[in-house]
Amino acid sequence: MSLAQGRPYLAIPGPSTMPDRVLNAMHRAAPNIYEGALVEMTRGIYPDLRRVAGTAAHVAIYIANGHGAWEAANANLFSRGDRALVAATGRFGIGWADSARRMGVEVEVIDFGRSAPADPARIAEVLAADTGHSIRAVLVTHVDTASSVRNDIPAIRAVLDDLGHPALLAVDCIASLGCDAFYMDDWGVDVMVAASQKGLMVPPGLGFVWFSDRALAASQSSDLATPYWDWKPRAVGAEYYQYFCGTAPTHHLFGLRESLTMILDEEGLPHVWARHATLARAVWAAFEAWGRGGDIALNIADPARRGHSVTAARIGGGGAGRLRKWLETEAGVTLGIGLGMALPEDPAYHDFLRVAHMGHVNAHMTLGVLATMEAGMRALGIPHGPGALEAAAAVVAGA
Ligand SMILES: *Cc1c(COP(=O)(O)O)cnc(C)c1O
Repeated sequence: MSLAQGRPYLAIPGPSTMPDRVLNAMHRAAPNIYEGALVEMTRGIYPDLRRVAGTAAHVAIYIANGHGAWEAANANLFSRGDRALVAATGRFGIGWADSARRMGVEVEVIDFGRSAPADPARIAEVLAADTGHSIRAVLVTHVDTASSVRNDIPAIRAVLDDLGHPALLAVDCIASLGCDAFYMDDWGVDVMVAASQKGLMVPPGLGFVWFSDRALAASQSSDLATPYWDWKPRAVGAEYYQYFCGTAPTHHLFGLRESLTMILDEEGLPHVWARHATLARAVWAAFEAWGRGGDIALNIADPARRGHSVTAARIGGGGAGRLRKWLETEAGVTLGIGLGMALPEDPAYHDFLRVAHMGHVNAHMTLGVLATMEAGMRALGIPHGPGALEAAAAVVAGA
């Protein structure tokens, strides 16, 4: 008997669960876009976007998703024929590299595979060989949502500093901003991209690019920046319409205002990070217990290198695919597919899934997902070790 009726839970890594308060803040008549409440409210959003990223840098808002934010960063960072180095640790690193390549950038990818973090020593080798300093930027994801790896951004910054290499460091925090600790200025990040529909808990539709003065100076000579993607008027424009190169994303801005207030002024960013860390550890504890009695494993072996917003895992024999289907039809929970782990025509494609614990999620939601997964494994006869729910509960109890 299906028990799926009730409030559905989309536990995929974006769009994340959105607070009703955010949705309600968007539910209003169209505001005046020339003056008044919207214009005043928008001015206050920029300082808060700096706070959430730990930076005093510039920030540009685009009506775009994450792919748009990548393209925005590329357009301002590069000229046609410039060189970029991409440290790829999953599908999203590869995606950013493809985007830059298609825009005419000469991209070199160091592919660290689908279940390992970027190794700073290998990045150092490539940069050390670039004695002419022709590599203009190093691109890396903080948390790659496909593999759920979390890269060591300060270590990559240290490579650039130790070599005295002037390349800019550009980081994709689309899956990690507002979930995993990130300090743009302290970590020496020049460009950072994010989008609204993950840790920021707003519907898809806003892309963000933060950029340092160094990046701004470098962008003066880039020849890929078309009028819409040019970050300068968006960040330092004199007129309101310049901030969005046209009509503002009015309702998304009201939603974003609400979510930034919740994150920064109510819960507080350190608590938001700690909540994500604890829920992540509960998920890992469950998988580790399941794995002691079945063909089940977390994708990233080292807990220190796992993202706190999403967990990628393998359940062999097509178990992941069957379990995902069962959860959706029988329990009202939708888990994420394995992304880029195997091709859809490969039977191994059905061995991977991802559990999101990103955004407006709390203990009962994450424990509920784990309990319904356990029920699904029992119903489907997927072999698994005992004690997963006790282990997850113990993590939550100890928080
Ligand atoms: C979701 C995501 C993207 C892509 O964002 P879209 O909004 O789907 O274009 C890129 N990078 C990372 C790390 C992501 O999590």
